Amino acid sequence: MAGLYVHVPFCLKKCPYCDFASVPVQSDLQAEWLQAVRAETVLRAPDWKPIRFDTLYFGGGTPSLLDPADVAGLIDLFSGSFQWARNPEITLEANPGTLSGSKLRDFRKAGINRLSIGIQSFRDEELQLLGRMHDAAEAENSLARTFESGFENVNADFIYGLPGQTPAHWSQTLGKAVAFPLTHISAYCLTWSGKTELGRKIESGEVEKPSEAVQSDLFLRTSSFLAERHFQHYEISNFSLEGRRCRHNEGYWKGNPYLGLGPSSHSFTGRERYWNVSDTREYCRMLNQGLRPCSGSETLSRNDIRLETIALRLRTSEGLPLAMIQNKTDFCKVFLENGLARIRGDRLVLTENGFLMADELALRLTV
Ligand code: SF4
Repeated sequence: MAGLYVHVPFCLKKCPYCDFASVPVQSDLQAEWLQAVRAETVLRAPDWKPIRFDTLYFGGGTPSLLDPADVAGLIDLFSGSFQWARNPEITLEANPGTLSGSKLRDFRKAGINRLSIGIQSFRDEELQLLGRMHDAAEAENSLARTFESGFENVNADFIYGLPGQTPAHWSQTLGKAVAFPLTHISAYCLTWSGKTELGRKIESGEVEKPSEAVQSDLFLRTSSFLAERHFQHYEISNFSLEGRRCRHNEGYWKGNPYLGLGPSSHSFTGRERYWNVSDTREYCRMLNQGLRPCSGSETLSRNDIRLETIALRLRTSEGLPLAMIQNKTDFCKVFLENGLARIRGDRLVLTENGFLMADELALRLTV
């Protein structure tokens, strides 16, 4: 099975912590983007015709800025262009403040059966620090409207480990989150780079640097709080109720093929990875001229795939087949003896404390 990803690069404004490919929304560019995605679908379809897809994911950017009729048109085009499994998961990323009741109902009618909403926090001062367009009241109203409009499979994204954030602040946000019938919660630890406005402020000392110890503490609190409420911690940053994992993201972690449409999107055939130009106007220009909007590609060796598999699977509750790390048993023993990992069947699975060191362990297992 494969996943289809569509990158929608438009946002109302750039958040100061964000380094995703996004541009301010402009109606002429949005219309060009839509035409370009349709053209790219036609160009790519012959290569992907033999493959069966079971997930479609509109990511961004802010896909909820799209007109639901345009989303319906794209879903219709994809249905006719590719082979589909029964009951595909069709996710749309959304931001509070872009979701009226009628728009939500129209997205459902268009075929969206899973919504992923960028709430980030239920505290106004944290939302201001993150430069979000919404406040806590709007976040709550948007979630309430989402469930009123009939969506049943809903994820909310949050960010923890913010400058100045205390365990009490984060508990407040988590407590409000679980008051809604969410089926999935993604909780990402704040990371920053000098490429973003917030990152530059943290690096210059203008904004307090979050402490790693506090971030680790919040991570452990999150998993125990959500475990008590029947959320399974199935990937470092992802928690779901039984049967409600994000099938699309699981495909990435399992190494399944995926096709990415839109600027900056990546595709993977199982051996080859290629990626599109990230500039939206250039993406549209190339497709307008009938060109593939590719900006690079690589063919992965067996060893490349092995290394990626180790790094990705260690981050999941399924863990890593022991057969992949047969020559590293001494090193794994250290993790087992320190309660950072356990053996389940034929797999090495990290514990909650072990997840905190997943990247370090992956590095050591792959050298
Ligand atoms: S809404 Fe999301 S994608 Fe858009 S700028 Fe903010 S963080 Fe980035």
